[in-house]
Amino acid sequence: MNLADTVAIRTLVVDDDDVDREKTVRILQKTGLVIEAVEAANGAAAMQLLTEQRFDLVILDHRLGDCFGLDLVGRIRDTPWGPCPIILVTGYGDERLAVEAMRDGACDYYSKSQVSAATLRSAIEAALRWSEVARQLADAQDRLHRLSFFDVLTGLPNRTLFFERLEQAMAESRRVGSRFAIAVLDLEMFKEVNDALGHAAGDAVLSQVSLRLQALGRLTDTIARIGGDEFACILTDTSSEAGIAAFDSSVRAVMGEAFGVAGQAISIGVATGTAMFPDHGSDVTSLLAHADQVMNREKRSTHGVSPTDDEPPLSRSSHERAVFLPAQLTRALESGDLFLEYQPKIDLSTEEIVGLEALVRWRAPGGGVVPPYRFIGAAERTAVIYPLTREIFRMALDQAARWWRDGVRLGVAVNASVRVLDDPRFTLTVADELASRNLPPRILTIELTETALISSPLQARAALSELARLGVTISIDDFGTGFTSFRYLRDLDVGEIKIDRMFITDALRSRRDSAIIRSVAALARGFDVKIVAEGVEERAAWSELRRLGCTIGQGYSIARPMPADAVAPWVNAWRLRLRALEIADPGGF
Ligand code: C2E
Ligand code: MG
Ligand code: MG
Repeated sequence: MNLADTVAIRTLVVDDDDVDREKTVRILQKTGLVIEAVEAANGAAAMQLLTEQRFDLVILDHRLGDCFGLDLVGRIRDTPWGPCPIILVTGYGDERLAVEAMRDGACDYYSKSQVSAATLRSAIEAALRWSEVARQLADAQDRLHRLSFFDVLTGLPNRTLFFERLEQAMAESRRVGSRFAIAVLDLEMFKEVNDALGHAAGDAVLSQVSLRLQALGRLTDTIARIGGDEFACILTDTSSEAGIAAFDSSVRAVMGEAFGVAGQAISIGVATGTAMFPDHGSDVTSLLAHADQVMNREKRSTHGVSPTDDEPPLSRSSHERAVFLPAQLTRALESGDLFLEYQPKIDLSTEEIVGLEALVRWRAPGGGVVPPYRFIGAAERTAVIYPLTREIFRMALDQAARWWRDGVRLGVAVNASVRVLDDPRFTLTVADELASRNLPPRILTIELTETALISSPLQARAALSELARLGVTISIDDFGTGFTSFRYLRDLDVGEIKIDRMFITDALRSRRDSAIIRSVAALARGFDVKIVAEGVEERAAWSELRRLGCTIGQGYSIARPMPADAVAPWVNAWRLRLRALEIADPGGF
């Protein structure tokens, strides 16, 4: 930093002795820095100026007419413009006090008898560097606050803040003996938009939805984004069924019109669920659970129909797919048209393979392969997700047992919809499937997407704890796409976090993304959680991701998902290459 070239450093010189003060100003002019000095002859005048104007620096005499400089240090640190660095000026014998002042936050001190332009200059440079760091720290804290309580994309309160406000509304309502309503809203077909048109389109939809909901204005006083495509409102002024019905129809009216995204008009449905406090629940969890239940009932009644149909799944629009898919999937399950591909995860330091993720595919009637995003979302909305998940686990564990028999001793990760955790038999089934194949539970990782996990009911969380107790690793997939509350990391037995590829793709170029990765990794270390970078497309990113704290990597630069029979040859080739590298460079990494 070349301070001599920067704009004038606004310096407040506080000294009750006119001669000393002028001397300080003279020395300041000789430092070679561009200084704009303003003078104050006592503590009160200084504090007055500091509340009215912004200063870059305060040079503060210790013995002032009306007080001691030491007493002002703490107060000057917190000006309306943020922290302002202070250099304390001491007379003879005041050095010990000066040290105390530094403990209170002064940056430096000098003695009147020994001061020179050169010492003052270096003290000023150090003080300005301190204030730059302090400013960055304050900014970071500010950002952290926003990240913790607000959704980055829409600017709406996030789940954490929603819960806080809901608690407040409940306390207020208990105090005055009133009722109020809450509403949860879930977008339909959002995942399809996201998958088919990309994250940018999905983000655009979410922003527009948030604007439309905010336009509901006085009907609701808090609108929060509590999940990927889930919103929630606190309707403080709604205390009757009629009020709820009015809210419902307003939501439908604003959401009914098409959204303009990527040059296309897209219709997004919305399912809503409401609950009244205290009628439907006396605490946050039970009230939300009630609203969720109402919403799920509505969803089931609109999507549960599955007319038989012979059309291949690819030929339909997403809306139609949601209706026809369950029946087609049921048939695909019966005729064995689903299969798994496997994508390796490697240790980013040693490059050893640490496991394989199973990814489901559907062999379509016409010979094409349907990727999971075309059917998992729709399947999740109906009961077909249960047999589908069972089949996926069965296939993955069969395959794992085969590999173990053949000496390929690798863990297998299976993606699961959080919804299946509601089934009380799920944990038992997983335990049985492992035991019947003589597989130790630690070989299994279950990947659950972040957004689904956060809004999951208590039963799902209990199931996760049970699985973790068994020894199965719980992995949070697509981490970062949901919201920024880390609270549930503490509550759940999470063993692995997969940072969404959205952040990984730009980790090399975007400082923000790399900062996010670094913070998540630092946090995860505290919880003893493995950090996986997913979607690593460039070999060049490996070392950077490792540096940011990711322990494991997965992505096209390592290997694309491959059919089961390709795995053993790939593993052998990979290990041979590693061994060859070790021999060529025994000391290397
Ligand atoms: P996911 O679990 O996050 O899986 C990673 C997805 O990213 C896979 O897509 C994979 O092929 C893709 N991918 C991997 N490396 C890269 C890369 O370097 N660049 C890019 N651009 N993409 C990469 P896939 O197989 O289409 O799966 C999509 C999603 O579908 C999965 O995301 C998962 O959420 C879901 N899914 C897949 N299989 C299953 C399953 O068996 N059950 C359930 N419930 N969901 C599944
Ligand atoms: Mg996954
Ligand atoms: Mg993922």
